[in-house]
Amino acid sequence: MTDEILKNLVDLFGENRLKIGEPMNRQTTFRIGGPADYFFEATSVDEIQRAFKAGRDLGLPVFPLGTGANLLVGDGGIRGLVVKISNNNLEIAGPLERKAGTKSSAASAHYQQFDTDQYLKFDDLDLAEPPPDTLVRAGAGVSLPVLIAWTLEQGLTGLQNFAGIPSSVGGAIYNNIHGGTRLFDEFVQEVILMDRLGRPNRISHDEMGFAYDQSRLQETGEIVLEVFLKLSHGDADRARRIRLEWLKRKLKVQPQKDCPGCVFKNISPEEAARIGAPSVAAGWVVDQGLGLKGTKVGGVKISEKHANFFVNFGGATAKDVCKLIDLIKSKAYEKFGLSLVEEIQMVGEF
Ligand SMILES: Cc1cc2nc3c(=O)[nH]c(=O)nc-3n(C[C@H](O)[C@H](O)[C@H](O)COP(=O)(O)OP(=O)(O)OC[C@H]3O[C@@H](n4cnc5c(N)ncnc54)[C@H](O)[C@@H]3O)c2cc1C
Repeated sequence: MTDEILKNLVDLFGENRLKIGEPMNRQTTFRIGGPADYFFEATSVDEIQRAFKAGRDLGLPVFPLGTGANLLVGDGGIRGLVVKISNNNLEIAGPLERKAGTKSSAASAHYQQFDTDQYLKFDDLDLAEPPPDTLVRAGAGVSLPVLIAWTLEQGLTGLQNFAGIPSSVGGAIYNNIHGGTRLFDEFVQEVILMDRLGRPNRISHDEMGFAYDQSRLQETGEIVLEVFLKLSHGDADRARRIRLEWLKRKLKVQPQKDCPGCVFKNISPEEAARIGAPSVAAGWVVDQGLGLKGTKVGGVKISEKHANFFVNFGGATAKDVCKLIDLIKSKAYEKFGLSLVEEIQMVGEF
């Protein structure tokens, strides 16, 4: 059966483009993860559709991969087919047709309630944007830094607060990423999603189930093919300076390489009040609360810059990471009665 699957996949994708046993440590920002049985980089919507169809026809699980910036892949790797989503189309889709009643899940009250991180509360960098007037169409595989640079070149502002976040557009939608006081969905007009039967559907912002760090994709397993973003012709020079300032400040307070995003979700405001924490930042619990900053297990350590980040300082395995996570969770429970929950997504065999 495996030979038959392999033959089918080679026929479909070509010998040069289908990778067998691709080490996932090459495909994640954490540089951790065993081999994917099959790996294919899809560079167009048509290729994404064909790859998922192949998975359905051959009975193979298919995992959509973006930049790999929020993942811990197990040392045993991923069974089935990993499809790296790399459709990089970017264009101005036209002037914005205003639709009544489009809501954003972002609001400063909401932000305060969830206070992402005391170190990254850069609300002095918020730029009042004029109302959005332009629609941009972006493929799910466009890298976020590229998208930010390209929109600024077009004189379009809004996305500068997401500078310094490694992500694909698809991953940004899946997780509804946050940059300072802004959530990505604030800029989303519509998303073209592919359902598990391969059918593309245009879904409006309000049907996407966006909330802080959430979208409906986490429940449905649909695939982002393309996104329509609503942006403004604002003060592009100022937005460029803000982007630079974000990058500088993030460099100071977060590691930038060999790590995924935050390991733990923030705690609730009630929990923070109960344990006397100054904010809901999980980083505070690990650092000030438990004094574990810098702790090492095997090749992984808690970052000295930011205690909710782990850094692979050389040859770390997923097993090392799981041990470090367990250590923190058990100490947080012992000392504070807190059950910390992972924010990084665990994928594959551990
Ligand atoms: C240094 C650093 C800083 C970070 N800072 C921030 C920050 O400030 N704010 C923040 O919110 N996050 C931050 N993160 C976390 C990370 O950047 C985001 O979670 C990002 O959105 C992950 O996107 P990705 O393309 O890498 O997705 P991946 O990690 O590849 O995948 C994440 C999930 O998205 C799914 N997915 C990816 N593409 C698609 C698609 N096209 N359709 C359907 N599902 C898809 C995957 O299957 C997976 O379930 C940071 C990470 C790092 C390493």
